[in-house]
This record gives sequence, C-alpha cells and structure tokens, in this order.
Amino acid sequence: MASDQDFVFKVVLVGDGAVGKTSLRYRYMGEGFRSTYVMTIGADFAVVPVEVEYNNTLYKCKLQIWDLAGQPRFREVRSLFYQGAYGSLAVYDKTRRETYENLIEWIKEIEEKRGKIPLILIGNKKDLCEENPDIPCVTYDEGVELAKKLSERLGFPVHFYETSAKTGENVNTAFLELTKVMLDMTMKQQV
Ligand code: GDP
Ligand code: MG
Repeated sequence: MASDQDFVFKVVLVGDGAVGKTSLRYRYMGEGFRSTYVMTIGADFAVVPVEVEYNNTLYKCKLQIWDLAGQPRFREVRSLFYQGAYGSLAVYDKTRRETYENLIEWIKEIEEKRGKIPLILIGNKKDLCEENPDIPCVTYDEGVELAKKLSERLGFPVHFYETSAKTGENVNTAFLELTKVMLDMTMKQQV
C-alpha cells in the first residue's frame, strides 16, 4: 500500500570542521540534485526524495538536508540553522579523536535550540583507517559506547554507523535509518 501523505523533514548535519559533513551530503544526494546556498546564515541545503516502508505502507518523504558552509562562529546564525530541524546526523572523523570528543558539544547545542530530536551518530572516514593501520583511529566499540550514552541522554535509541563518504559505504543506510526514526516519531505524535 502507498500513502498519499507526504512528509518533509529538515535534517541538519553537525560536527567539527572537515569531518566530512559536506562530502556525506553530496554522496547521498548523488548527481543531479541542486543545492541552495542561504547566504545570511552561511548554510547549504538540498531536497532529496526518499521512500520508506513503515507498518506495511510506503511513505514518500523529502529530506531537506542542511549543512553549514564552513563553521560560522556565531551562535545567533546557528539558531536559524537549527530552526525547524527534525533530525540530525552527528558526525565525527574516526582519524581525529578530538572530533569524537567534541561531538557532545554539538549535541548539547541541538538540544538547546531544538530539544531532543532524532539523531544518528556517524564515525566517518572509515576507509582511511582501513587503509592505514598506523593511524590511531577511534574504534567501532568507542562509537557504540557513545551511541549508548546518547541513547540514555535522549531517551530513545541512537543508531551508530561507520561511514566513508569516499567509497559510499553505509551512507545511504544512515540517511534511510534517520528517515525511519523521524517517520516513527511523527506517527507516534499523530496518535
Ligand atoms: P566538512 O567540513 O565536515 O563539511 O568536511 P568536508 O566534507 O569538506 O571534508 C573535509 C575533507 O575530508 C575533504 O578533503 C574530503 O575530501 C575529506 N573526506 C570527507 N569524507 C571522507 C571520507 O569518508 N574518506 C576520506 N578518505 N576522506 C574524506
Ligand atoms: Mg562543509
């Protein structure tokens, strides 16, 4: 069965500079999608359609995926960025431990601006760790541990994926999982 109801979800990508947010967004968008630059807040967004099955029904969703161009320092600017956000991908770079440690600050900022919204944890640049065993990467287990802590903090499951924007590994899966969680939350709020 297909639903005639359509959903539009604003999704924000957060995490330190150069962890791969823009690369993940482009990888997920694929060719042919146009992104729109919002100069006043220094952000880019693009709309990507995605179909999700939920309770044996196919739902058409549109993800409006937002990404800060550079890292605007001003919190006032970032308030606009978070406005209306319904889900988030929180990204760290497996090869730079400080980006893993800093992620909690980004999550606190989301909570402060938007409250507890669906969130997926991403450890990106998996390919670099696999190719270079000498890099002291953040391990998979450490990612799982952080996801567990975040789940406890937020009161709902936070899924965790290790991705590569370079090879594309797990990129679609992560966005799809986020869409499912957002849809689930919306349905539960509607009852
Ligand atoms: P942002 O500042 O978080 O938006 O990060 P960018 O997407 O601009 O990426 C920063 C740098 O990391 C760029 O040089 C990317 O090519 C590189 N990069 C991003 N993701 C990956 C990945 O999964 N693997 C590898 N090897 N490089 C990546
Ligand atoms: Mg970027």
